[in-house]
Amino acid sequence: MFVRIVNGPLELEPAGGRLRALVPTMGYLHEGHQELIKRAAAENEEVVVSIFVNPLQFGPGEDYQTYPRDLDRDARLAAAAGADIIFHPSSETIYPPGFATTVSVTGPLSELWEGERRPGHFDGVATVVTKLFNIVRPDSAYFGEKDYQQLQVVRRFNTDLDLGVKIVAVPIVREPDGLARSSRNVYLTAEERPKATVLYHALLAVREAAAGGATPEEAVAAGKKVLASVPEFVPDYLAVVHPETLEPISNWLPGARAIVAGRFPTVRLIDNMEVWHR
Ligand code: AMP
Repeated sequence: MFVRIVNGPLELEPAGGRLRALVPTMGYLHEGHQELIKRAAAENEEVVVSIFVNPLQFGPGEDYQTYPRDLDRDARLAAAAGADIIFHPSSETIYPPGFATTVSVTGPLSELWEGERRPGHFDGVATVVTKLFNIVRPDSAYFGEKDYQQLQVVRRFNTDLDLGVKIVAVPIVREPDGLARSSRNVYLTAEERPKATVLYHALLAVREAAAGGATPEEAVAAGKKVLASVPEFVPDYLAVVHPETLEPISNWLPGARAIVAGRFPTVRLIDNMEVWHR
């Protein structure tokens, strides 16, 4: 298992008919990222994993400075999952002096939920992912459903700007107790960690209520009751939404998603689940 680490500008051989995949990450890899890399390696001949803590997608007071970083460990985990190249650029490589262009998805898709709580976040994501697509020129790019709204934002600008990259969505990888794996889980204290499953249990409650004949509104109420059982967790939102537009729905439709976010004293967590199949 050999992985080439590129810290400066990325110069790739022409793909020459070989399928090239990109897996964009902010590093501090875990099994969720590894699942993306494994899928990419199974379906492509060349896998580029980008590791870039993108300053543009962090707001003031967020954790840009303290975001966990460990390149040596990431290189081992990426190689073990089948990565060929790690692209680990500096901030100056991506945003050199004079940089003045952003990509912005407008409307509810980027303004609701995470967009409301993290103004500018999706512009930062859209800008860096567009740049990564242009630098790496992948045939396909792999994103986790963990960041569900981000996935839909990426699909939107990829289509709107004719970027032509095949966007592959990978289901959420969870800890055995249901907590969605996340680089930020390391912030959880020992006391908070078992309680952090509350997001997962709230989503399950929504899904079970839906299966039992509840309306979306009633199902959300059932989920909120679960959230309220953990007072240390302050919810930002719990909603049932359209799977592509992320707008709240009042009638069930195939692929309907429950989305949830909120804060423990040490960390903000998000999660989501498909709650209606047919
Ligand atoms: P991040 O490093 O947090 O920016 O995540 C990089 C990519 O990995 C994104 O597409 C995430 O959605 C995806 N990802 C993160 N955690 C998980 C998980 N638990 N399961 C599946 N994908 C994940």
